[in-house]
Amino acid sequence: MRIGVARETAPGERRVALIPQEIDGLRKAGHDVVVEAGAGESAGFPDAAYAERGAIVGTASDVLATDVTLFVRTPGSAAAEAGELVGGLRPGQVVIGLGDPLGTPAAAAALAARGVTSFALELLPRITRAQAMDVLSSQATLAGYKAALLAAGRLNKILPMMTTAAGTLPPARALVIGAGVAGLQAIATCKRIGAVVSAYDVRAAAAEQAASVGATFVDLGLETESAETAGGYASAQSEDFLRRQREALGKVVAAQDIVISTAQVQGRRAPVIVTADMVRAMAPGSIVVDIAAAQGGNCELSRPDEEVDVGGVTVLAPTNLPATVPAHASRLYAKNLVNFLRLLLVDDAVRLDLTDPIIADTLITHGGEVVSARVRDLLGLAALDTTTATDATGSPDEAGSADIAAATDAGAATNTGAADSGRETAATATTAGG
Ligand code: NAD
Repeated sequence: MRIGVARETAPGERRVALIPQEIDGLRKAGHDVVVEAGAGESAGFPDAAYAERGAIVGTASDVLATDVTLFVRTPGSAAAEAGELVGGLRPGQVVIGLGDPLGTPAAAAALAARGVTSFALELLPRITRAQAMDVLSSQATLAGYKAALLAAGRLNKILPMMTTAAGTLPPARALVIGAGVAGLQAIATCKRIGAVVSAYDVRAAAAEQAASVGATFVDLGLETESAETAGGYASAQSEDFLRRQREALGKVVAAQDIVISTAQVQGRRAPVIVTADMVRAMAPGSIVVDIAAAQGGNCELSRPDEEVDVGGVTVLAPTNLPATVPAHASRLYAKNLVNFLRLLLVDDAVRLDLTDPIIADTLITHGGEVVSARVRDLLGLAALDTTTATDATGSPDEAGSADIAAATDAGAATNTGAADSGRETAATATTAGG
């Protein structure tokens, strides 16, 4: 198969979906790799490095002509320059990346209208088998690390306790709100550079994890039994809970030099946890780094990618910290992607095995339809009938001809129906393109 690596177009996006070191493995598996000129440049991977490994360096059109095209941010997703790129995609083309389908479901509708088969890696299930593909985790780890360094770099104090002939400096105090993947890395990093760290999370399970990387867990005495979904994410809390949470956290926040907030609820706006009054009560010179900013932010004062000064307290709201360390972010992202491709590309074809939750959960559009139930729901589309269709088709010659079992009616313009070869009768296992 021809695998394409697009140059990212979103403002400030410096990552690239595939790095040169991953090309050998793909070529050994029989694939050709086409990289858009300049795709890796901002991440520190020049065209020559891709060419040395046997990739073809081509134009944007060459990349869009590939069978499977890799992105960090898929066309149409919030931060990408949408329209033009979506228009360049072909029916049957497979597109993989971060698509923000729960935040910008309209992008999924646009991809469906083009007949594109798209996967959004944000929706990978949190199962052991998917860990090696988990882009949210790999990127969140880097975001947590950078948030800690950003705070340390801007604080008007040093972080560690220091005893000198001129006296003893007490350690800085840092609070991390949201002790998930990013939060745990922020705790560990603040701790390593000398802060006294406390942490808070709505999930009870987070207490032990936060303690294991050096934080004192803040117990607000609030009931949080139903705080975790089966998928390991935080559930949305009621406005009443959030109000009580803010009240209880006020004193804790006021005593901090650094607050790093990472709290998110999948598919929703991030909860507002740090109010303007809480920020005003912090000492001048303190820092808030709100890395939930891309989802609306945990701090009432956050302005995406802007710096806000309130009585000498600085509120930073970076929306894409992984892009500030693009070499490592791309390296982890590329490894995640290659692991996903290993599952998806079987015998030189795209295997849409919908019995596999990794494929089923991440597949957003196919055969002219939005097929993700969660995204259909957000778009106000009726659920697809998953019981009526009996077969699925696909041919190596007909990219995208696979018609997943569920998509039986609308949007069939791009489906070519039964093919001569490559037919599979399982309603859940289909083969597309190639
Ligand atoms: P996330 O980015 O969705 O949210 C960050 C943190 O914010 C979470 O810990 C969440 O509980 C917390 N939060 C949400 N609302 C809050 C509120 N009102 N107040 C305080 N905190 C709030 O989460 P994440 O980093 O993706 O991790 C969620 C969990 O999933 C973690 O336990 C993580 O270890 C786990 N995980 C499991 C796997 C796997 O098994 N494959 C992979 C990655 C993460």
